Order: sequence, then C-alpha cells, then structure tokens
Amino acid sequence: MELLKDRILRDGIVKAGNVLKVDSFLNHQIDIRLMDEIGREFYRRFQDERITKILTIEASGIAVACAAARYFSVPVVFARKAKSSTLDTNAYTARIKSFTHKDTNWAMVSANYLDEDDQVLIIDDFMAEGNAAQGLLEICDYAGATVVGVGVVIEKGFQGGGDALRENGIHVESLAIVESMGPEGIKFRD
Ligand code: 5GP
Repeated sequence: MELLKDRILRDGIVKAGNVLKVDSFLNHQIDIRLMDEIGREFYRRFQDERITKILTIEASGIAVACAAARYFSVPVVFARKAKSSTLDTNAYTARIKSFTHKDTNWAMVSANYLDEDDQVLIIDDFMAEGNAAQGLLEICDYAGATVVGVGVVIEKGFQGGGDALRENGIHVESLAIVESMGPEGIKFRD
C-alpha cells in the first residue's frame, strides 16, 4: 500500500532493538483518514472470504480492527491482556511474549464473543516474531472458530513471524513489509 509506505518513510523512526516507531499516525496519534484507507485495503484483500468477526489484541490493534470492521460490517473482539491467567472458566486464554516490552502477558477472550460458528479475520498493527498472532490463533483454536486470515499493517519481514505463518498455510496480508531498517534507511519488500 503505497500511501502507507510513503508515510512510514516520512514519519517512521527506527529505534534500538529493531523497533519502528510510528506514533505520529498509528500508535499514539491516529491519522483517521489513513486508518480508513487501511480498513478499505484490508477489505479489498479479504472481501472474498466469509468473515463474521475481527479479532485483535489491545491496545494498538483496536483502532485498526475497527477501521476494517466498518467495511466488513462485523463486530470487533479484542483480546484483553492480563498479568496472570484468569480464573474465569468462561474464557479462552493464551500466553503471549511481548516484543516491545519483553515480558509475557496472558491474552483473554470471553467465550461469549467467540465460538465454533465464527469465521475470524485476525488484525494487528505490527507483526515481528509472530507471537501475538500465534496467541490469537490459539484462542480461535480453543473456541473452535475458523481463522480465514491474518492482516497486519506493518510486518517486519526480517523477523520471520509472517513467513512462518505463511509456511503453515495461513493467509497473511501485510500492507507494508519492511525488509530492512537502520542507518541506511527503511527498505520494503516488493
Ligand atoms: P510479535 O508478537 O509479532 O513479535 O510482535 C507484534 C506485537 O508487538 C504487535 O502487537 C505490536 O504491538 C508490537 N510490535 C512489534 N514490533 C513493533 C515495532 O517495531 N513497533 C511497534 N510500534 N510495535 C511493535
């Protein structure tokens, strides 16, 4: 998505630890026009699938998921993060290692909002090692729901998470795939 790549080149800041900061339009301040275009692009890429729900994880995935959900006209469910496993038996949980904070959280989705009739599109802002997406896939698996694909705004291709999912037969669509980033600048995969 050229509009997004241009914005990353203009406003993205490469930080230590292979973290790309895009706080000015995605992760702190949100450019709502760009967000709407992102939602439209996810719809274009997944419109042939039957989707009943969009699943994401708090916090940064929520705005992206909502932008997409407007085009699909389906509800958004976001996994809640907790420090310890919930004792709520009416919920599905998965452990997820946080790429940015380096700790491990539990992600939790109530069984009230996900079940075996659901056809799920997983959406997130970033993909690095793929731990967040794997956790959400696990939650769908526990719920008996079908995952039709994974959509991410920015995939850091050099960290392998997206390709590992693709090798497992999962339909992954990333609107921009960063192939390398550093003092030489940011380069995208074609
Ligand atoms: P993964 O679980 O794929 O290793 O990392 C994805 C999660 O970590 C995303 O939910 C995102 O919030 C965060 N993340 C990973 N890499 C970056 C990055 O370079 N920049 C930002 N802003 N978030 C990232």
